[in-house]
Amino acid sequence: MSGLTDHTRWWGWGGESGRAHLPEHAGELLRTEIGLSPPAARERVGPPGLEDVRLPEGRLPGRLRERLHAVLDAEHVREDRLARVSRAAGKSYPDLLRLRAGDAPEAPDAVLEPGSREEVAEALRACAEAGVAVVPFGGGTSVVGGVTPAREGFEAAVTIDLGRLDHVHPLDRRSLSAVLGAGAVGARVEAALAAQGLTLGHFPQSFELATIGGFVATRSAGQASTGYGRIEDNVLGLRMATPAGELTSRATPASAAGPSLRELAVGSEGTLGVLTDVTVALRPAPAVRRYEGWSFRSFAEGVEAFRTLAQADAAPDVARLSDEQESRLSLALASTGTLGDRAGRAYLRARGHGTGALAILGFEGESRLVARRQARTARLMRSAGAVGLGEGPGRAWARSRYAAPYLRDELMDAGALVDTLETATVWSDLLELHHAVADAVRDALAARGTPPLVGCHVSHLYGTGASLYFTVLARAEEGAELEQWRAAKRAASEAIASRRATITHHHAVGADHRPWIEREVGGLGVEVLRAAKERLDPAGVMNPGKLLPSGPR
Ligand SMILES: Cc1cc2nc3c(=O)[nH]c(=O)nc-3n(C[C@H](O)[C@H](O)[C@H](O)COP(=O)(O)OP(=O)(O)OC[C@H]3O[C@@H](n4cnc5c(N)ncnc54)[C@H](O)[C@@H]3O)c2cc1C
Repeated sequence: MSGLTDHTRWWGWGGESGRAHLPEHAGELLRTEIGLSPPAARERVGPPGLEDVRLPEGRLPGRLRERLHAVLDAEHVREDRLARVSRAAGKSYPDLLRLRAGDAPEAPDAVLEPGSREEVAEALRACAEAGVAVVPFGGGTSVVGGVTPAREGFEAAVTIDLGRLDHVHPLDRRSLSAVLGAGAVGARVEAALAAQGLTLGHFPQSFELATIGGFVATRSAGQASTGYGRIEDNVLGLRMATPAGELTSRATPASAAGPSLRELAVGSEGTLGVLTDVTVALRPAPAVRRYEGWSFRSFAEGVEAFRTLAQADAAPDVARLSDEQESRLSLALASTGTLGDRAGRAYLRARGHGTGALAILGFEGESRLVARRQARTARLMRSAGAVGLGEGPGRAWARSRYAAPYLRDELMDAGALVDTLETATVWSDLLELHHAVADAVRDALAARGTPPLVGCHVSHLYGTGASLYFTVLARAEEGAELEQWRAAKRAASEAIASRRATITHHHAVGADHRPWIEREVGGLGVEVLRAAKERLDPAGVMNPGKLLPSGPR
């Protein structure tokens, strides 16, 4: 079953029952930090009803409808309001702004729900011949505009929802690998694997809704990717239906058979075809998960310590280091527990860590190995100036690791701009990049009279560098929310591109990062990508308006 069901909140995160609540003192914090006075609950304007959403008339050509009905059961060629509105956008801040305002002008004309590889291939062929744009859709959690249909000259657009391709089989225990359906949701895959004592080890914050196909199509990274690797490190093979036929990559542990076509499909963001099956590498499920908190006097001191860990092969599986702003906010918002309690804070102040930087380290695996790794890492952390805070903060982080998107709904209800962005660079440039991006966003929003809070954490370590993940919180500019967001996004992206960092470490390019892709891969690089697209998708129907800069399809 798809991550996105008819019970998923199309205007926010999760299902009807899931909710997170801002702590009571959050109102005061929003007032003092960003000048926002949240409306009282009774004054809040809720999201519009489904019937009130402005939706263009469906334009699925009659001949294509007939052909699709011959390929799929009619019930899986959906043209109803709920199906179309739910696939009109992903889950970025601007996506949710538009949906909450009752606007779904880009909604697909129909949603196809194929139940097999053959049905995907047939549906693609039919759409390509009819010249109708096709958007592959996994969990719809894209935060870069990746699933919003952009017709770019096409008369109609359909979304192919992979939710029915959710198999987890057959499991090759001896080789520690499995074939997963592209539409299988991360959380359900992990539950199925856990029942067999195995794990994929891929835990992005969107894990409850995002799918295997979506992970692979966007080169996703999970919270434990420092240890388990990014999704592409664990893809052995795949099958991708394209308008020109099926592209397959054999599931071998490694290969020297020329440039990797598997890598061409990984990160292709639905612009070349539809991933249907992915063969992944698995690990034994960890017997022990130990998460712990640490404090540094400053973010700069923490970055240096993390570099040492990564280069000494002593990095934990989960490695997160918050800058001073993000640490201060976590402390202020923590209601109970070691992070927030008075004695804990007094102790840190006494050690010169009053406005310091908090880190979470996580170790997963067999218990003796975890103990050995933890002890070695702890020695290196202490000699780099860190103070151990024990497992309390680690447990608190693990409990709330999937709560942020629910909190975002609450913050948006309260009238806040809340967005995240990410990048990566080499260790030598990391601190400068951190300052440059935070300053650029601060300046852009302050110039509009809405000075923001900009926090950041390092979240994935490599021997040569790390990723930076920024969270931006500001008072939303009523009536100009999208322009305000665009100004901040442009400023951040320019700061990133001009410092030769990557425009995205794991969220992908989609529509939002498209203006910066050519600066990253070069003009010839774009031409090579276009050439591959022209061969696999000659009619240019696959997810137009994503990944490649605008220009000839
Ligand atoms: C709250 C929140 C937290 C997030 N946290 C993380 C995180 O920790 N790490 C991270 O990496 N990302 C994160 N993301 C981003 C997003 O979840 C990832 O990009 C995820 O991999 C998308 O998976 P999905 O199944 O939802 O894909 P979708 O959003 O449905 O699609 C994303 C892109 O992939 C294409 N696509 C999807 N399925 C297929 C397929 N079968 N074949 C071909 N193309 C396909 C789509 O066309 C689109 O271009 C987060 C997003 C949100 C909203």
